[in-house]
Amino acid sequence: MELTNIGTIKDVMSRNGFTFSKALGQNFLINPTVCPKIAELGGCKPGTAAIEIGTGVGVLTKELALRCDKVLAIEIDERLKPVLAETLEEYDNIDIVFADILKTDLSALIAEKLPGYDEIVVCANLPYYITSPVIMKLLEERPPIRSVTVMVQKEAADRLCAKMGTRECGAVTAAVNYYSEPKMLFRVNRGSFIPAPNVDSAVIRLDIPDKPRYTVSDEKLFFKIVRASFAQRRKQLLNPLSAALGIPKPELAEMLGKCGIRQTARPEELKMEDIVALCETIADKK
Ligand code: SAM
Repeated sequence: MELTNIGTIKDVMSRNGFTFSKALGQNFLINPTVCPKIAELGGCKPGTAAIEIGTGVGVLTKELALRCDKVLAIEIDERLKPVLAETLEEYDNIDIVFADILKTDLSALIAEKLPGYDEIVVCANLPYYITSPVIMKLLEERPPIRSVTVMVQKEAADRLCAKMGTRECGAVTAAVNYYSEPKMLFRVNRGSFIPAPNVDSAVIRLDIPDKPRYTVSDEKLFFKIVRASFAQRRKQLLNPLSAALGIPKPELAEMLGKCGIRQTARPEELKMEDIVALCETIADKK
């Protein structure tokens, strides 16, 4: 079945009484070049298993199934059950779980559904209303996955893949860099979807190293510093950090100096190494 053909999609949808849900971020891919590219660049190959979040009518699911040994897909919308039974009928290596990804214990699900797979990758065209929470869940919960290759809105992609120490970065940039190596892969225009969204998209890949990229003695403190630093991205760091951490300004200024961070520095100037150094300096004083 040609799942990028608008006629085919409309036909299978109407036969099964399915209509798009805007609330669930249902913009389905109809550009035939995009899904094979996501699967290839996402590391799908024999011996690997892929996890997909949000199947839609199965256009990407199918490309993952063609390249990987096994596909585990998590889809929230049970109305897609009969649709997928038709569109993915010929593939016997796809397991679809109907659940909310944000309420799913992914490590437990992997242990149950993908036992014995060392190479597990995530590939998805993410529902845009939960881009950041899904990405943070995939990184923070540390399920046994090698990489996350996802389509997100272009603006989110720019923020996630921004270089630390530039104006484009935010708290999520620091968080993503802590756990992974982000890379911008390619841009996808809005006409590649049905219905077409109002903005363009991009595919990014987050490679998750075997060993953590950075080591801090207190992860909670690290993320508290990140959140407080970037809460007001154009303001100087000293005031919000002092308030959030409960450290008097003169003392904090001294700590910043010790880490080579100017007292008047703004969050956009921070490198990962600066935040790590500050975290360790504050942790030492506790
Ligand atoms: N992969 C398909 C494609 O590329 O055409 C569909 C992508 S569409 C942007 C997002 C999909 O995620 C929809 O099928 C939607 O129902 C599903 N979805 C939305 N919220 C979800 C959630 N919390 N958990 C799992 N799936 C979700």
